[in-house]
Amino acid sequence: MMTTHIKRPAKRRGHKALVNILLLLALGVISVLIYKQILADAAGLTSEKEGVSADEDGFKLIKMDKEKLTQGELALVNKEHPYDFPEHRELAAIFDQKNDSYFVRDKNVRLDPDVIDHMNDLMEAFCKETGVGDVNVVSGYRTYEDQQKLYDDSLTEKGRDYTDEYVAPPGFSEHHSGLAVDLSIYHIQTGKSEEFDGKGKYGWFYENAWKYGFVLRYDANKSKVTGFGDEPWHFRYVGEVHASYMKEHDLCLEEYINLLREHPYDGEHLKISLGKKTYETYFCKGTDVRVPKDGHYAISGNNADGFIVTAEM
Ligand SMILES: [Zn+2]
Repeated sequence: MMTTHIKRPAKRRGHKALVNILLLLALGVISVLIYKQILADAAGLTSEKEGVSADEDGFKLIKMDKEKLTQGELALVNKEHPYDFPEHRELAAIFDQKNDSYFVRDKNVRLDPDVIDHMNDLMEAFCKETGVGDVNVVSGYRTYEDQQKLYDDSLTEKGRDYTDEYVAPPGFSEHHSGLAVDLSIYHIQTGKSEEFDGKGKYGWFYENAWKYGFVLRYDANKSKVTGFGDEPWHFRYVGEVHASYMKEHDLCLEEYINLLREHPYDGEHLKISLGKKTYETYFCKGTDVRVPKDGHYAISGNNADGFIVTAEM
């Protein structure tokens, strides 16, 4: 009895020691795995974390957030595609960053910060080539409430027909994107403003704005497609690559976005030459976006059904 009584705990001790060693080993292995995962996460190497996985043919897959559909230079905002205001929107007052080639109505005129440099280049070139420096940026980004007020005022002052043709209902204005501007002309001697009708020297904008990434957004001959009447004062930033193609082929943004749908990732990409560079543009439906593994590229949501990739070749 005594011996067995003594032996039993000894046996148990031996068993316990073995279990402890195994536990320690398991813990060690788990620790190493967790540590490796932390290192990989820090380096951004895990596919789950960034939504990136390798593809075979020089492209990789990126999983985009659906909210990003509203972002980028090709976001289409019109009467059929309302703008879904993001919680945080980066905007800057043009007034604080503008050069001396033009006027800005006041500090409330804001734009997407990336667009302001291009606006400066555009205005500087116009001023240099024509000697005219009286263009006034009178409107840029608008909140939902801004547009509501404009819309209500227009209905009261100008009536239903005019409003339907020229003023978007709140939520449906391209000005919500922070990529569009309205121009007017400001006479500094008299302090008076004049509508920007694009006549005379101001016609320069229609021939040259594309070089700086801007397009005339609402042209009379496109009003059936855009849903708006002729607005010679309203310009939209889409980037130089897209602006050059739209200008050359006389496409408004609705037509261009549709054309890009005919150039999906797994089909023939649209090739655009600009200066000495060549770009490939293609459409990725949904949120699975394929981008080149190497080289420069830009992704823009179309504010409808997918993303557009523009890759430098
Ligand atoms: Zn406008």
